[in-house]
Amino acid sequence: MQVSLYNDIFILDDGEVREFLFLSRTTALLIDTGFPGTHIIDVVRRITSLPITVLLTHGDGDHRGGLCDFEECYVHERDKNLIPSDVQTYNIRQGEYIRAGKYCFEVIEIPGHTPGSIALLDRRHKLLISGDTIQKGPIYMFGDRRDLNMYIRSLKKLWKEKDDIDVILPSHHEYPLSHEYIEYCIEDAIALKNGELQGTLHPRLPCKEYKGKYISFYA
Ligand SMILES: [Zn+2]
Repeated sequence: MQVSLYNDIFILDDGEVREFLFLSRTTALLIDTGFPGTHIIDVVRRITSLPITVLLTHGDGDHRGGLCDFEECYVHERDKNLIPSDVQTYNIRQGEYIRAGKYCFEVIEIPGHTPGSIALLDRRHKLLISGDTIQKGPIYMFGDRRDLNMYIRSLKKLWKEKDDIDVILPSHHEYPLSHEYIEYCIEDAIALKNGELQGTLHPRLPCKEYKGKYISFYA
């Protein structure tokens, strides 16, 4: 697990998926928990002994895996069904604010990748944490919880906030990204929807890989 510091944000990265840790004076906020085998709590405990609040960008397995070591988390209610039943959940919804160190994030609901996907926007620092919704990909869009039309609507909603976004920190692939990537995702997702992208069968997963101009999808 690689730990790096980016503008007072600890970025925890196992090479597949990354989590974000913010330290305040009395509490720590952990955004996402990685794969179960990572035991992210051990990594966090090497950095801080503060009490930890966990918040999920969405409920996919590579973001909630480490919950096995926590008792509670904040998650959007539409992804609550993905959370193990022994973990106490608290709802987060559109327009709520979350303080994290020097940052103050506004919750933006961006359903599509999952029904309960959220982004976190700090307008003062012009920083967006985008989960899996904005990234170079492959973005998982196959399976019954994914909704490509809703995904495109959510991207357009984020694009309206572009003047307040300089830096995007996604959960996978390269970071940081510029706000142009919102537009790139829109362009390539529309091409995917319109059947304009050539798909190749994935060797293991029940999907095809589609490579857009900027972004790739599993759909
Ligand atoms: Zn993911």
